[in-house]
Amino acid sequence: MRSFVVGGAGFIGSHLIDLLVERGPVTAYDNLSVGKREFLAGHLATGRVALVEADALDLEELTRAMRGHDFVFHLAANPEARWGLERTRLDLEQGTVATYNALEAARICGVKRFVFSSSGTVYGNVSEPCGEGDLGQLPISLYGASKLAGEALASAYAECFGLRCTICRFGNVVGPRGTHGAIVDFCKKLSLHPEYLDVLGDGTQAKPYLHVTDCVKGILHVFDRADESPAIYNLAPPDWTNVRRIAELVVAASPHPEARIEFGAGAQGWPGDVPKSRLKPDKLAALGFHVRFTSDEAVRQAVEEVAREVFGRPSTGG
Ligand code: NAD
Repeated sequence: MRSFVVGGAGFIGSHLIDLLVERGPVTAYDNLSVGKREFLAGHLATGRVALVEADALDLEELTRAMRGHDFVFHLAANPEARWGLERTRLDLEQGTVATYNALEAARICGVKRFVFSSSGTVYGNVSEPCGEGDLGQLPISLYGASKLAGEALASAYAECFGLRCTICRFGNVVGPRGTHGAIVDFCKKLSLHPEYLDVLGDGTQAKPYLHVTDCVKGILHVFDRADESPAIYNLAPPDWTNVRRIAELVVAASPHPEARIEFGAGAQGWPGDVPKSRLKPDKLAALGFHVRFTSDEAVRQAVEEVAREVFGRPSTGG
């Protein structure tokens, strides 16, 4: 099995590659805009992984690099939903067009299977737990809109060209090598100004947090077992954790446990942020996969891991 991971030098992509190398050679295709060569350093040294440093917006280059691979895992995207507020073309290009390119290159190359990393943001502003069929509301961020567009493109490629597609809708993924998200942001902010931690929103925002080790095992579980195309699965714990709790844990795990936490106003972190979301994992459970960490456990574990990376010392926990 030869795997091709678009966005393979990123947070989730590099953890996925840690598992994929057990199954055969892997190519990571990444423009290193966010991802890092060092995330793959061990595998690059053994020759089990090749890194192609190039852009998914370059269809010709993407197609050339993809030839000879059996399976494509598409993980490249704009990593920060709120960046779409400043640059309104970002999610169109890095989300929708990059996903079209990955699908089109897969079609041209005769790839057997395609996996798309989607997100719970496709369910829109809904605080009730959402199952895979609950698309009654539309996304409220440009990021979420691009994920829904990517899903629709994958569905069309499955129907029109017989490309077998798997779509995983992740909760908020956390863990070592994290490149973005609340835990990483809070740690970075505290290292810049140790006296205080400013939090976007009033801290009541609550989301399901998924440890990255559960995320990549879940992707491969669906990949190995789901028969339908497109196969669509939520991938998240059923519970949620609020931002206030995350801020408290990060402060306690940092070298600055006296830092004061300053909350913003309003239930949203930014326009387009879904203040409360939960994903039903029932379909995935029926396929035989259960996450190891609850949302609170995933957060606690990831705070330890990210604090160690950012502050460079063992953390004390909170
Ligand atoms: P990440 O930013 O760490 O990884 C994405 C990788 O893609 C990076 O290495 C980046 O350099 C690369 N990339 C971006 N644009 C590219 C382009 N045009 N050409 C080539 N490479 C490009 O983010 P991540 O957290 O690992 O997310 C992976 C995927 O999972 C993304 O599609 C993201 O939307 C999705 N997702 C992530 C989360 C989360 O909480 N992390 C939640 C839901 C969905």
